[in-house]
Amino acid sequence: MALMAGIIYALTSLFLGICAGLSAPRSPPANEVTLLDSRSVQGELAWVASPTEGGWEEVSIMDEKNIPIRTYQVCNVMEPSQNNWLRTHWIQRGAAQRIYIEIKFTLRDCNSLPGVIGTCKETFNLYYLESDSDNERYAHESRFSKIDTVAADESFTQVDIGDRIMKLNTEVRDVGVLSRAGFYLAFQDVGACIALVSVHVFYKKCPLAVRNLAQFPDTVTGADTSSLVEVRGSCVDHSEEQEVPKMYCGADGEWLVPIGNCLCNPGYEERIEQCQVCKVGYYRSLSSDVGCRKCPLHSYSVKEGATSCDCDKGYYRSETDPAAMPCTRPPSAPHNLISNVNETSVLLDWSPPLSSGGRQDLTYNVVCKQCVRDTQRCSPCGDDVRYSPQRLSLRSTRVSVHQLQAHTNYTFQIWAINGVSKHNPSPEQAVSVTLTTNQAAPSMVMSVQSKDITRHTLALFWDQPEKPNGVILEYEVKYYEKDQNERSYRIVKTTSRNADIKDLTPLTSYVFHVRARTAAGYGDFSAPFEFSTNTVAAPVVGGVMSSAVLLLLVAGCVVVLLLILIITFIFTKRRSKYSKTKQGEDKNVQQGVRIYVDPFTYEDPNQAIREFAKEINTSCIKIEKVIGIGEFGEVCSGRLKLPGKREICVAIKTLKAGFTEQQRLDFLSEASVIGQFDHPNIIHLEGVVTKCKPVMIITEYMENGSLDMFLRKNDGRFTVIQLVGILRGIASGMKYLSDMSYVHRDLAARNILVNSNLVCKVSDFGMSRVLEDEPEGAYTTRGGKIPIRWTAPEAITYRKFTSASDVWSYGIVMWEVMSYGERPYWDMSNQDVIKAIEEGYRLPPPMECPLALHQLMLECWMRERADRPKFSQIVNMLDKLIRNPATLKRTAGDASRSHPSTINHAPSECSAPSLASVDDWLKLIGLEQYRENFNTAGYSSIESVIPMNHEDLAKMGISCSAHQRKILSSVEDLLSGMHHRQDSKVPV
Ligand code: AMP
Repeated sequence: MALMAGIIYALTSLFLGICAGLSAPRSPPANEVTLLDSRSVQGELAWVASPTEGGWEEVSIMDEKNIPIRTYQVCNVMEPSQNNWLRTHWIQRGAAQRIYIEIKFTLRDCNSLPGVIGTCKETFNLYYLESDSDNERYAHESRFSKIDTVAADESFTQVDIGDRIMKLNTEVRDVGVLSRAGFYLAFQDVGACIALVSVHVFYKKCPLAVRNLAQFPDTVTGADTSSLVEVRGSCVDHSEEQEVPKMYCGADGEWLVPIGNCLCNPGYEERIEQCQVCKVGYYRSLSSDVGCRKCPLHSYSVKEGATSCDCDKGYYRSETDPAAMPCTRPPSAPHNLISNVNETSVLLDWSPPLSSGGRQDLTYNVVCKQCVRDTQRCSPCGDDVRYSPQRLSLRSTRVSVHQLQAHTNYTFQIWAINGVSKHNPSPEQAVSVTLTTNQAAPSMVMSVQSKDITRHTLALFWDQPEKPNGVILEYEVKYYEKDQNERSYRIVKTTSRNADIKDLTPLTSYVFHVRARTAAGYGDFSAPFEFSTNTVAAPVVGGVMSSAVLLLLVAGCVVVLLLILIITFIFTKRRSKYSKTKQGEDKNVQQGVRIYVDPFTYEDPNQAIREFAKEINTSCIKIEKVIGIGEFGEVCSGRLKLPGKREICVAIKTLKAGFTEQQRLDFLSEASVIGQFDHPNIIHLEGVVTKCKPVMIITEYMENGSLDMFLRKNDGRFTVIQLVGILRGIASGMKYLSDMSYVHRDLAARNILVNSNLVCKVSDFGMSRVLEDEPEGAYTTRGGKIPIRWTAPEAITYRKFTSASDVWSYGIVMWEVMSYGERPYWDMSNQDVIKAIEEGYRLPPPMECPLALHQLMLECWMRERADRPKFSQIVNMLDKLIRNPATLKRTAGDASRSHPSTINHAPSECSAPSLASVDDWLKLIGLEQYRENFNTAGYSSIESVIPMNHEDLAKMGISCSAHQRKILSSVEDLLSGMHHRQDSKVPV
């Protein structure tokens, strides 16, 4: 009884002690929503206790500010088999999918209570029951689900509390995927001395946030602790979407990976995640502009929110002028106009205007007017006048005008024009000159035809020259026999546009030229026209006929020419295709092998990114889960759906906001490196997102994560052949890298990724990571970090990183694989490792590691790097081992997965079991019927069946699963017989 009184006293004084240190209820953080807080309940809590007497009791105490606190206590430490339940009232779930229960309590240490051994407990249990309404208040205890057993971190050890301030235990538990409208919580005491001081039930949300000008509402976190809730943001006032804004709400109530953005509308600018109106005198015209800008020269704005500024009087802006350009004026007139007449041509020359109006787009237009002599009447020049180089939009200050009429008055105006001339065209922009052309001979007769051809005569006719330049007084026809000398010509003169030519020789070709004469003299002779006299006096229109023949000839020539062109085109296309492929191949190719290009050798590393990594539109990417934390930001898994391609799972590395340009380049350099590789054992780059934030690198998704973790999780679960298969894949990837002259420098199991088919791929090509951020890295005396345990001695000592040092690291990876993720050199310090290697120590074979593999490791760890095998040799060796699994049967015994000091280096001799033929073996297991299948598939020896799996059997046509199982289990037996092992292997 005295003891009981002592206990109760202890409990009461315990509360008093607590009260002294109990602060008022905290206001919850922005990402928590309270469903129940026992401390804020006014009056009694009135939870349901059972039994109603002698179990949990509600006790009201005062905190230091005299505010009552409702607590529950129980302390039946003396009596065995306690089962005291306390249920809360019904708590509405609200929007919660996962709830958190924070319990503050005190718990007596049983050691401090004499005589309670065997009955006193130091834990209590937390339960919950979901229900849609408050009608399950008295539901049977068996219907409650257990959340957890709760123990104290800070139990009391002293009854005498004196003036010591007692600390409270605070424990938080959570439970997810709630589906009903509400729930009850229950506290089960099984014989402890407990005081429940406060119970706070809440759920988490990502609080309202604004990122990239998009507002994301309060979002309740997902039910799963790793799930992300994708939320679409809406643009803040006065802004519009540039790219769909999205963010992910993480389970801890934190927002992650903002994607997309909004931009402030024209007339507004971004200020601390808001769009603020541009002040008077300022403007912002495009949502892509940086911010509000002062109105440019000669412009103004009188209202807030201007999207452009109006021009001062007399100043203008052309439609294509950017809003940032000052307003401008039309130019002044050109000056110093000089004309130079040459017969019917004029050369005009001038100086640029003194004022260009503040613009760079000055050109000149020529206006030509023909004026009647001695009158002021002028009319625009005809279309036949020619200008060189052109009449309008001249950039030069000179033009020559041709084919004017002879002896005629002209006025020429030269207009200076710029982009705003049309707003205010005025004669002040032009300079003019008036002149008279000279007398001039007529232009050439362009076309001569013949008709009425007989044996001795023909009639010629022609058109007047295009520019007669005066009255034509006469035409002159010059002709001669085609086969005769041109000098023995004859002349016929006529005032009309035709002439009868007589006394010709029959069946003879004649050449004719015609020219016209005015008062200014003869024009030039026309081009030659050829006609032949006839054998009979049939009237033929010679010109037309010869034109038809000419047409046929021309058509024929065109067809032939086209044919030649087509053939040449096809031929050159082929050649150029050939040379193109050659060129494409030539790029980064030395002696037929592609060579890796270091992106940092590019003057502009962005160029390397563009060259080696494809830009992906964020709308093709769906982020699903955070799967890791990389050096630059979260690594997520998700899906990628490129247009025209099927959706695939991808890993998405993100670059957190706030990085410098250099860090952005470092981050993306990994993509420029991976983008150069194309091999099944090298992680494949899908592309990058660089045009919007966050910057991302998208690679294929490797379901089983990093190799070291994967091996540790599956310790002992693979056959030796499967492990060798893993090693072969890594070696093949490394061979590819060394062929490309790429040195990895950080080859380790943690940097190999494994996919769902157990395919291993070399990854981690981050440039800065290699030496600076390697978790295993240790600073060497020469600066920089090096993963000591994986690195060859020459690379540690004098930084000689080569493919041979990668081979050393590969040997360590072999060791990691064969020991299922054991740490190389166990707990030895880096310094001890360096020293041991220097003294010739090498890692011993891991447990059950075939000697052949350990031998290969030792070769990879040869001191002289030239003595180490090349990756191509390693691949060949592993292939050989896979082909002859019997060579893998010799192991070094069981001693090796222990510390080096206990290792026995001597390999144990194993005798191989006596092996039957495949036929005998099939007979033995009662599946003789498959003899043919095995023979046809090339399984000739018993060793060759060892690496077989379900797929191989299916391929051979053995589809019955019972038979498959029987064969494979027999194979297992064969293998364990070879290995002298009793434990069975479970294929993953
Ligand atoms: P890293 O920044 O490359 O070291 O990546 C950090 C973590 O993200 C790694 O340890 C992996 O667990 C995970 N990870 C990176 N890339 C992938 C991928 N392609 N597939 C699956 N997990 C990955």
